[in-house]
Amino acid sequence: MADHSFESWMAIPCQIDGISLNTGVGWGRAVLHQSAGMKTTLDRVDFGVDDAKSELIRLDHALAHMVDEIQILISQQSVSTLPKSQADAQQKLQTESRDILDAYLLLANDPGWKRQLREKVQAGVSAVEAVDQTFQFIQKKLKEKGEHSIWQARVSDFQDLSSRLKRYLTDSDVRPVRKRGDSPIIVIADRIGPAELLDYDRTRLVGLVLVEHSQTSHVAIVARSLKIPVVGGMQGILREVNPGDSILVDGNEGRVYIRPLKEIIRHFDTKSSVKKTRPLGLSREVTAPLSAQTLDGVPVSLLLNAGLVEDVDHIEAAGAEGVGLYRTEIPFMMRSKLPNVAEQTKLYREILKRTGNYPIVFRTLDVSGDKVLPYLARLKSESLTVARRTTQTLDRPILLRYQLRALIRASADCELSIMLPMIAEANEIQAARSLLDEEIKRERVRGKPVPTKIRLGAMIEVPSLVFQLPRVFPHVDFLSLGSNDLFRFFYAIDREYPELSDQYDVLSPTFLNLLKSIQNQCQLAQIPLSVCGEMAGRPLEALALIGLGYRTLSMSASALPVLKGIIRNLTYQEISDYMSATCASSSQSSIRQSLRYFAKDHGIHSF
Ligand code: PEP
Ligand code: MG
Repeated sequence: MADHSFESWMAIPCQIDGISLNTGVGWGRAVLHQSAGMKTTLDRVDFGVDDAKSELIRLDHALAHMVDEIQILISQQSVSTLPKSQADAQQKLQTESRDILDAYLLLANDPGWKRQLREKVQAGVSAVEAVDQTFQFIQKKLKEKGEHSIWQARVSDFQDLSSRLKRYLTDSDVRPVRKRGDSPIIVIADRIGPAELLDYDRTRLVGLVLVEHSQTSHVAIVARSLKIPVVGGMQGILREVNPGDSILVDGNEGRVYIRPLKEIIRHFDTKSSVKKTRPLGLSREVTAPLSAQTLDGVPVSLLLNAGLVEDVDHIEAAGAEGVGLYRTEIPFMMRSKLPNVAEQTKLYREILKRTGNYPIVFRTLDVSGDKVLPYLARLKSESLTVARRTTQTLDRPILLRYQLRALIRASADCELSIMLPMIAEANEIQAARSLLDEEIKRERVRGKPVPTKIRLGAMIEVPSLVFQLPRVFPHVDFLSLGSNDLFRFFYAIDREYPELSDQYDVLSPTFLNLLKSIQNQCQLAQIPLSVCGEMAGRPLEALALIGLGYRTLSMSASALPVLKGIIRNLTYQEISDYMSATCASSSQSSIRQSLRYFAKDHGIHSF
């Protein structure tokens, strides 16, 4: 049954497009910035002469305290973000940011502002009320000067200063996140001043989301100097986000993901980690052109798992032979509505253009279960707790047809490889193939070009398929082992609960023997087989797979160079003998430790 509870609705992932105000990607917990606002909760209080004197002292004290703190913030800004070696552009930005903060400090010391505040208190209003009244007066005067952004920025600065001063006067928490926790945070603000931004712990601040969108707003400039991604123009974001929600800010695209699915996070993570990889002391640049061949000459094909258009740009740099798994659901997840055929065609064309002459396998939409498209009604058979995820082959034929149509159009005059996820029965592949044939016929009737060759494959990730492989072989051109799902269905554990998956290991002889049987059957039937689950990219697991006879592994770009280094240090015959002996005899629930010793003994030090 579909879950319509408030909690589940609130937890639905979504995304909002805005305007990029600074590039970069940041992921953290949402902190909803609370500006003190200009409406005081205190009623206006009239004072007598004596009260006014003490209120004046309070005001002076708060003003002095505030100015001191701003000075400290500015000095920290210059120490932490102005290293001598900065490039010119960054240097300019730092200077601009510094100018803004200096101007802000000048405003805080503005004699006219201070005089007005004092006069109001002397006239008998409370210090807090004096701050409000003075701000309203300044705001009116600056508005009279016109709509120019310079005056708007000045109003903003005064608003920021006034809120800050009121917090000193009322002893509220001026530095909201400085003391608590150490996880990364994304600040989401309707209105925030540059100094207010600096109140946040800069070691934790990894992104900023603004309702406003001025490139030249002071807070945006200061955020750029802090080198955090900023997205603005986010009307309505405060309605969507709850404090503490997971938020991913993509400053490159001007997009904010609210409660993003782990696939989205994983893809952004891969993108950033690919730049950092240094396998076995070798840089990516060094390993990329080298072949992935064992010491005794057995070649292993290393492919890339991708999901974002830009992922395919890493093929060459990572030293991959192509894309073994393109998860098409990722672009679907990144949109707020279902992309139509034309939009999908454009997307797949772009992917193919970037892939160039390298082969690529498009996996058709794999949604349901733990992968949710917020705009797609969930089918009755899908639930977060029931492990079975159906392929849309049978359940959503229209969706599949549209996707096949888009893939065919995008690959006109070139080869197209399509892979079906979550196949549980051999006849599901036949059903998908008839849809594919119909779509090809449709294009031909329209007089449109079709792919020069189409390869149709399926993932082995539902255990039932393992027991009918002979019936599967006649209908597929290739197969790929989805070890993530196969493992969880095999042991009946939910992928979403790592504490449960820790009880079982993919390196258990039982599971490995299953993988061995799959490999043997495919080899005999001469059906190309790869592994595209996470196992393929983990050093020990990949060792085991190679020892079991797997020759094609598809993984994230960051894992690939490490694997290449391992393969080049490995003797196939040794790992093959080891795996045969261990899997046949081991009564352990995992061979992990023993495999680790094997690796060490054989000079493979990457674990
Ligand atoms: C798998 O299940 O191993 C796989 C590669 O698919 P997914 O996208 O579900 O991780
Ligand atoms: Mg899967």
